[in-house]
Amino acid sequence: MEYVKGYGYSALPDLFLVPVSSLFLFWRKYTLIQPFLAIIGLKNTCNRTRSCRFKTINLSTQYPRIRVFFFILQYMSLFTASLNSGSNGNCYYVGNTEEAVLIDVGISCRELEKRMARIGLNIQKVKAIFISHEHTDHISGVRVTSKKYKIPVYINEGTRKGGRFEPENPLLCSFAAHQPVNIGELSITPFPKRHDAADPYSFVVEGNNTVIGVLTDIGSVCEHVRSYFKQCHAAFLEANYDEDMLMNGPYPFYLKKRISGDHGHLSNTQALELFRQHKADYMSHVFLSHLSKENNSPQVAQKLFEEHAGDTQVIVASRHYESDVYEIFPDAKVAIPKKAMQTSLF
Ligand SMILES: [Zn+2]
Ligand SMILES: [Zn+2]
Repeated sequence: MEYVKGYGYSALPDLFLVPVSSLFLFWRKYTLIQPFLAIIGLKNTCNRTRSCRFKTINLSTQYPRIRVFFFILQYMSLFTASLNSGSNGNCYYVGNTEEAVLIDVGISCRELEKRMARIGLNIQKVKAIFISHEHTDHISGVRVTSKKYKIPVYINEGTRKGGRFEPENPLLCSFAAHQPVNIGELSITPFPKRHDAADPYSFVVEGNNTVIGVLTDIGSVCEHVRSYFKQCHAAFLEANYDEDMLMNGPYPFYLKKRISGDHGHLSNTQALELFRQHKADYMSHVFLSHLSKENNSPQVAQKLFEEHAGDTQVIVASRHYESDVYEIFPDAKVAIPKKAMQTSLF
């Protein structure tokens, strides 16, 4: 327990947290060994900084006991980030402390590596890539990333053909609607949606009793979108265009019709309607995603949602940069840190 010496702090008072946390974990179908593993790994958490609503606290030096508590809590949460979001490329990360999945890789492998490294995410923990549909902004980096890191790619037959992935590629795996795929302790459920692609899907990722949805490229809200969105503790939700900006903008008429049609993209208003009517009380974060460069503005979308968000934090996923890593808890009441958390654990 080097850390104890380093901070002149007795380990004993912290130990009372172990049985408490063990009960909590057991209730969440975890083995009792996990908190002890957490204690063994204490040394690794020395440089972690967490933000809360009021101030940023360095838990490593000032509040070691709180740090222990939060360290154990991370076994009850999921971590997520957008690596890019928009018609120029989409890639979303969801993981626990051991494994992670990417939903789409629409940026180059090199860019993905750079961005993940910048926010402390370890690409070696990515155990699967799930592909939503064959549009270039969702698949352009899949081949290289999968080949380089030997990551299986879950893709359905329509998308495989549309994206011209060779059927003999041993890393390709299939999935079926509403059938969860288990990747370690994560469970990924694909569901069909409306979009102008061969066989488009969206996904929810479940782990540690936390559900994170990735819902982009949706022409209109169907029953599937509605019912999976309702389950989410956090969701990447498409808010592609502002209706006035699209209609008064430079796009040709046929394109305006396609974007706003049933199989195009969700407008701010459509996304907001879904959010207002169907978000769970416990939803802690909504990431506005796939914003159009010409027909939307991050400020307009954020302001619109914030007026109706209540306790849910609204974040715009950038077309140009990776987001912070967000820790999502199954019960928002436990989630004292509401803002981004940078961590070197991943
Ligand atoms: Zn797209
Ligand atoms: Zn698309």
